[in-house]
Amino acid sequence: MSPRGPARTLKSPDDLVAAGLVALSRRGEIERIAARYAIALTPAVARLIARGDPADPIARQYVPDARELVRDPAEDPDPIGDELKSPLPGVVHRYRDRVLIKLVSVCAVYCRFCFRREMVGPGAGALSEADFAAALDYVRARPEIWEAVLTGGDPLMLSARRLAATTQALAAIPHLKILRWHTRLPVAAPERVTNAMAAALTRGRDKTVYVALHANHPRELTREARAACRRLIDRGVAMVSQSVLLKGVNDDADTLEALMRAFVETRVKPYYLHHGDLAPGTAHLRTSIAEGQALMGELRRRLSGLALPTYVLDIPGAHGKVPIGPTYIAARPEGGWDVADPEGIARRYEDRVAADESRR
Ligand code: SF4
Repeated sequence: MSPRGPARTLKSPDDLVAAGLVALSRRGEIERIAARYAIALTPAVARLIARGDPADPIARQYVPDARELVRDPAEDPDPIGDELKSPLPGVVHRYRDRVLIKLVSVCAVYCRFCFRREMVGPGAGALSEADFAAALDYVRARPEIWEAVLTGGDPLMLSARRLAATTQALAAIPHLKILRWHTRLPVAAPERVTNAMAAALTRGRDKTVYVALHANHPRELTREARAACRRLIDRGVAMVSQSVLLKGVNDDADTLEALMRAFVETRVKPYYLHHGDLAPGTAHLRTSIAEGQALMGELRRRLSGLALPTYVLDIPGAHGKVPIGPTYIAARPEGGWDVADPEGIARRYEDRVAADESRR
């Protein structure tokens, strides 16, 4: 291995030992996890990990841990209920105006907390042509669908040629206005985010293209990752962020503040901070909701609205995604409101509205 890190993606327990990311004594433990869940650390990610630091926040996201084989009874292989809302293979239709299309099941890296960890992996492949054609028919037949969310796995693992063909097919549906791609690639393999990829994503000229970047720690926003985002943005792609609140990775206000500032500096609007889903074997990476709310309260004191994500929970059982606070307003029993100011002090507010003209 060169001093700059491995030259190829690390996929096996032996790779992790050879790269100095796990001790030889843990090889058996990693074998047991590898038999159940996929492993992949790209060179870009492996380079970020501080060797010899068992608490390294990048390692916690990607290097397997024996606790992944411990299952809390509330955990579920399909924690947000994708299957319950799936009318066709690869299609999830949970909200009226948008549909999710899972184009591939592979990723450049495999995150230890992934909510689709039971479905993603190198053997899982891509949506077949016939299933993609059926997904297009489904969208075509529903004029209320305004947005397609392209996800997986990581859909930017497709070649530029396949991305262009996918964009073109979706762009031919007149009522579809927004194409939103969910990816970790600018962080995981920034060199793969090429000008050709940016051109492929923006091929449907009258469609608005969003890329939602998944990153959880400010160290992931390297110079190379920022340049990859720039290649997309300069071509006309709008970018938003998605992060997962993770114990030992970003569950402190300083890290979250730095992460959100890094997004904004990269022209990526902070969008969602997800509460950790109940994916199997991820309890050691979850925080409580109360901890998340306290962190969001602190972020609101430190950051402008431009840099604030919405803290959300995907309610298990396919009940959808909702903001989970903290809340700043409460109704007073005698009428009016108590509104907490940024310091947490309750300030009284009374509604003042004009009488309804139509009742006069
Ligand atoms: S890149 Fe996304 S889909 Fe893939 S393992 Fe990570 S969280 Fe899951």
